[in-house]
Amino acid sequence: MAAMQNRQPSGDPAGAELIRALEEAGHRTTDARRTVAELIASRDGAFETADLVADARRRKLGVARATIFRTLEVLVGLGAVERLDLPNGEHSYVRCDSRGHHHHLVCTRCQRAVDLEGLGMTPIIAEVERRTGYRVDRHRVELFGLCPSCQGATST
Ligand SMILES: [Zn+2]
Ligand SMILES: [Zn+2]
Ligand SMILES: [Zn+2]
Repeated sequence: MAAMQNRQPSGDPAGAELIRALEEAGHRTTDARRTVAELIASRDGAFETADLVADARRRKLGVARATIFRTLEVLVGLGAVERLDLPNGEHSYVRCDSRGHHHHLVCTRCQRAVDLEGLGMTPIIAEVERRTGYRVDRHRVELFGLCPSCQGATST
């Protein structure tokens, strides 16, 4: 498991990469959207809309829930944030450092997330196509479990 690295928390504390993604796609970057980008960037791992709303309230940033929701959806559309379907039927979001096709590994306890590239799905998909006659043109695979530090917390 050589190429997997834990994302450094707050490597982009001001949300500059998210703001750049918005600008490159031709979206207006209002103060409110910049604030949302910063809220996302200061989160470590997967988060829910409610987490951002709570962060904004705690820090008295005065950004509307609707703005948070809309900005998130725009960023999801750009691939800078991904919406995850959790095993319990809920949804959460995770910031994407990788721009190409990739998967996520999310800790079910602390929500810390890692981007995974190259899971070796290509031969599996080829086999599925061979068996079914379908032509598979996309897939989603997300992995969930306990990160190393949460495993340590469990065993003590
Ligand atoms: Zn990602
Ligand atoms: Zn894949
Ligand atoms: Zn964890």
